[in-house]
Amino acid sequence: MPETMRAIRKLSPAAGLEVVEIPVPSPGPEDVLVYVEAASFCGTDLHIWKWDDWSSRRIKPPLTLGHEFCGTIIAAGDKVRRAQVGDFVSAESHVTCGMCYQCRTGQAHMCPNTEILGVDREGAFANYVVVPEKVIWQNDREKIPPQIATLQEPFGNAVFSAMNQDLSGQSVAVLGCGPIGLFTIGITKSVGAKAVFASDIHPYRIDLARKMGATEVFNPKECGGDIVDSVLKANGGYGVDIVLEMSGAPSAITTAFRVVRNGGKVVLFGIPAKPVEIDVAENMIFKNLTVLALNGRRIFDTWYKTRWLLESGTVDLRPLITKTIGFDEVNDAMEMLSRGDACKIVLLPNDGKLPDIAGKKRDRTVDPNISAAPVHR
Ligand SMILES: [Zn+2]
Ligand SMILES: [Zn+2]
Repeated sequence: MPETMRAIRKLSPAAGLEVVEIPVPSPGPEDVLVYVEAASFCGTDLHIWKWDDWSSRRIKPPLTLGHEFCGTIIAAGDKVRRAQVGDFVSAESHVTCGMCYQCRTGQAHMCPNTEILGVDREGAFANYVVVPEKVIWQNDREKIPPQIATLQEPFGNAVFSAMNQDLSGQSVAVLGCGPIGLFTIGITKSVGAKAVFASDIHPYRIDLARKMGATEVFNPKECGGDIVDSVLKANGGYGVDIVLEMSGAPSAITTAFRVVRNGGKVVLFGIPAKPVEIDVAENMIFKNLTVLALNGRRIFDTWYKTRWLLESGTVDLRPLITKTIGFDEVNDAMEMLSRGDACKIVLLPNDGKLPDIAGKKRDRTVDPNISAAPVHR
């Protein structure tokens, strides 16, 4: 085991990220040390890279970024009960307290004491990361390769918001074709929606929306700034049954309430940077809408659905991996993401090499069914 490792860190309260050499962390009694095989960048990392209002309030440098990852456990603390050296794992990025009202009533994804990896505690854009055993999620390497396994965390956001309602036979609009919107199109289509209308302004993303199965993709810039008439026309003159708002853009949020049919449902998942003005009387009450506002993933319900969608091949995420990179390309990758010219960019911190753990794998002394379905073991 080396003493130091490379890590992508925010060193000071300013824009940018740096790749630096830091000590390899050691796991506490209830933690595991994971050799990171793949990690992926997301919008949160982009906010921190830019050092916008949100990140300057939330992030306390120095900090290693990265909350989407997978890898192999190479060491475990004394009190780790089930995870084993050699296990190929991902992790729920939200480390919750386990003691508050939400945690104790099956709503841990709303825990007010949540610490997020790579946001509130050291993250996974490094050769190694320490995480508590309680957030570990077991993967089957034969069924989900590392580049896809790292995507389970953000894909779970889409699974949570899309599968909160019965989509089969419904007309659906997905507003915003960033990674979560694109994941959502794939899920919506594969679980039997009648039609999936998508919207975005970036040509690269519009192309990917078609690849993920969107029935039609509308660019507001080509619809006179407003897609509502175009969607209604494509949907037989009616508003859609369900709108999944994944962009957080104020214009898209107001569109969501106008493009939904009377009695339909709007799911808000995209996060606006500022308050948004909505005509509550005309566009909500008089339409008898159901409105859901969601964040995160259900821990761990969503992970089981996520695993099934990926292992069964129901949704194929491969078209959404724009490129894989090494440490030195991080700032270029962030530029690319901020231009909207990329979907998921995957970091391979250990250049795709497997860890050397021969002979160190412990015998199982407890139920191996940590959170994996027994059939996969
Ligand atoms: Zn993320
Ligand atoms: Zn809690």
